[in-house]
Amino acid sequence: MYVKSLTVKGFKSFASATTFRLEPGVTCIVGPNGSGKSNVVDALAWVMGEQGAKSLRGGKMEDVIFAGTSGRAPLGRAEVSMTIDNTDGALPIDYTEVTIRRTMFRGGGSEYAINGTACRLLDIQELLSDAGIGREMHVIVGQGQLDTVLRATPEERRGFIEEAAGVLKHRKRKEKALRKLETMEANLTRVADLTSEIRRQLGPLGRQAEAARKAAVAIGRLPDQRSVVVRPSARRNSACAASCCCDPAASPHS
Ligand code: ATP
Repeated sequence: MYVKSLTVKGFKSFASATTFRLEPGVTCIVGPNGSGKSNVVDALAWVMGEQGAKSLRGGKMEDVIFAGTSGRAPLGRAEVSMTIDNTDGALPIDYTEVTIRRTMFRGGGSEYAINGTACRLLDIQELLSDAGIGREMHVIVGQGQLDTVLRATPEERRGFIEEAAGVLKHRKRKEKALRKLETMEANLTRVADLTSEIRRQLGPLGRQAEAARKAAVAIGRLPDQRSVVVRPSARRNSACAASCCCDPAASPHS
């Protein structure tokens, strides 16, 4: 696997589309001071997903877009495409050539694509990190970075070694899984609390339900009881009394 070509357009000092064709064996790019050698390295880091403007030697991410010169107006977008030869299948994707593209607009917004298909930054990061390359894999050691490594504390050095060994991805996944487990634990505690609270209410609720059932039965019998209460007075009504007394089935106590 090797970087086959890099096309830079509107990125830093590269206003016009510029393509670097890199064959196996190319080990360096030379040029006079300020000619843009580091910008090429920045372009590589940027297309692989770099998110820190400082790592790209800028104040804000927008600084990567061609800012204009005395003879040329600023541009509205920066675009970098990197084509990787994948004939050895180092990248876990069914293509012998993989082109990663990143575009950024001055008005805000970024786009990422793998072989011309729009994708998320995460897709690019995962694809590259599976092959041991990418933003945090120390494939790019910037000016002054060696000094940082040499001056690092043991913990920081461990971090560098983990990143270089490809452990970082798994450590991040582990941390993510642990965070999920913690959330799940909290949810379980809440469910247990709710269950015990509901269980506590079951006794009183059962008694209330029993009372409600009895009330419903009593209400159901109410018309019969009313007729018991109504009939004696009805006898006092002469018109009704006649019909009541004539009714042999009528019982004063029913
Ligand atoms: P050195 O050898 O001194 O490290 P270099 O060859 O690595 O230099 P770079 O640092 O890559 O050069 O390029 C610096 C040039 O890029 C400067 O002339 C700077 O003005 C130009 N540059 C950087 N960002 C932009 C931008 N957004 N728009 C236009 N030009 C830019």
